[in-house]
Amino acid sequence: MAVTPAYDPSCQDDSDPTSLTVEQAWERLQSDVEPIRGREKVNVRHALGRVLADDVPSTVDVPAHDNSAMDGYALPSEDLPAEGSRVLSVVGTALAGKPFEGMVKPGECVRIMTGAPMPRGTDTVIIQEQAERDGDLLRIGLGHQPGQNVRAAGEDLKAGQVVFRAGTRIGAAELGMLGSLGLVEVAVMRRLRVAFFSTGDELQTAGTTLQAGQIYDSNRYTLYAVLNRLGVEATDMGVVPDDPESIETAFRDAASFADAIITSGGVSVGEADFVKDILRRLGEVNFWKIAMRPGRPLAFGRIRNAWFFGMPGNPVSVVATWYQFVQPALRRLMGQELSKPLSFRVRTLERLRKRPGRTEFQRGILERNEDGELVVRSTGAQGSGILRSVNEANCFIVIPHDSAAVPAGEYVEVQPFEGVMGA
Ligand code: AMP
Ligand code: MG
Repeated sequence: MAVTPAYDPSCQDDSDPTSLTVEQAWERLQSDVEPIRGREKVNVRHALGRVLADDVPSTVDVPAHDNSAMDGYALPSEDLPAEGSRVLSVVGTALAGKPFEGMVKPGECVRIMTGAPMPRGTDTVIIQEQAERDGDLLRIGLGHQPGQNVRAAGEDLKAGQVVFRAGTRIGAAELGMLGSLGLVEVAVMRRLRVAFFSTGDELQTAGTTLQAGQIYDSNRYTLYAVLNRLGVEATDMGVVPDDPESIETAFRDAASFADAIITSGGVSVGEADFVKDILRRLGEVNFWKIAMRPGRPLAFGRIRNAWFFGMPGNPVSVVATWYQFVQPALRRLMGQELSKPLSFRVRTLERLRKRPGRTEFQRGILERNEDGELVVRSTGAQGSGILRSVNEANCFIVIPHDSAAVPAGEYVEVQPFEGVMGA
C-alpha cells in the first residue's frame, strides 16, 4: 500500500529556495514602487483620505491667545490668598467670542467662560464651583495654584512649526487640525488610478443563475470595497474569461490609463501558463511564491507604465495579500509614509495548528476573558476559500515563519482588523 505523505505536497514548495519570505516580499515591493508624481490643490475638506504633497507649517499660534480652560473667574495670581480667604470685585465678563477689553487691577476679577482670552492683568482661573459669588463680590479660598486652568497661546502649535509632513494621510483628526489653522486649500498627491478585474471561466456576476461548476465572483466586491476606502480612483473591469485574447486585451486596456492594475486568479501553479506568457510579453512581471498562508502566489511587476499586482483567486488569500502587500504598496504609490500595521501579543485560548516554513495569517477573534485580559481564539476552519473565517474575525493571528503549532495559553501576535480594510 502506498504511504500517504503526512504533508500536503504543495507545501514542499514552501522550502523552495526561489520562494520569498513575507519580509523579503515586503522589502522588495516597498523598494521597487515609487510614489506617483502628480499633485493638486484641493479644498481642505476634500483632502480627507488624501496624502499631503508638501509639509504643512502652522500659519498661526494655536491657540492664538492665552485662554481659559474652564468656566470660572480670571484674576491676577498675586491675589490668591496666602491664608484664609479674600474677596475680589467682579468687574466684567469674558466670553469665547467676546473678550474683556479692560485691564484687571489688583483686587479685581472677571467672570470668564471656557475658551475666552485671558483679560490683561490676569493669569489664573478659579473654577466657578470653587468660589462664592455674592452680587459683584467673589470670595476665594486656599488651595489654588498660580496659572491654573489657563491654556497658553501656542501650546498646541507655534506659528511656523511643521504640523504635518508631506506623505501624511489626512484622516478625521488631521482634518480637524487643518481646520484649526484656518487653511482653505492644501496640496495633495493626485488620486491613484487603479484598474481591477477578476479572471476565471467559472465566475458569474450577480443576477445570473449558477450553472454546474460556476461560482459568484466575490473578489471584485472585496476589491471594490478596499479600493474605495483607500480613496483611489478605482475602475472595475469586470470578469475576464480564461482565454488568451480576452486576458491580453484586458491588460492592454488597463495599462492604457491606470497607475496600478490588480487582478485576482490565474497566477497560481497549475493555472494556464498563457497568462504568464502574456504578462512576460507585455511587461516585466515576476511570479513570486511567498512563504505565507493564505495567499502564496503573487505576480508583481510592470505592464507598460502601470504597476501590476496579480493576486491569487481564493477569496481569503485576496484579503491577506491585499492587507499584507498590495495595500502598503498602493499607499506608497500614493505618496504615503508607511507604518507597519498595529500588532500586539495576547494569549491564545486554543491550540493553533501551524507548520514551520511559512508565515500564517490565521483569522482570530480578540475578546476579553473573565479577568478582563485580552485573549484570542481561532475562527475555526482556516481554508483559503472560507470567506466566513474573515467575516467572523476581528484580527489576523500572525504566526511567524519558523514557528510550529502554538499550544493553548501561549502568546501570539495579533493584528486587529480595525482600520485594516481601509481608513
Ligand atoms: P485561481 O487562483 O484562479 O486558481 O483560483 C483559486 C480559487 O479561487 C478557485 O477555487 C477559484 O474558483 C476561486 N476564485 C477565483 N477567483 C475568484 C473570485 N473572483 N471570486 C471568488 N472566488 C474566486
Ligand atoms: Mg482561475
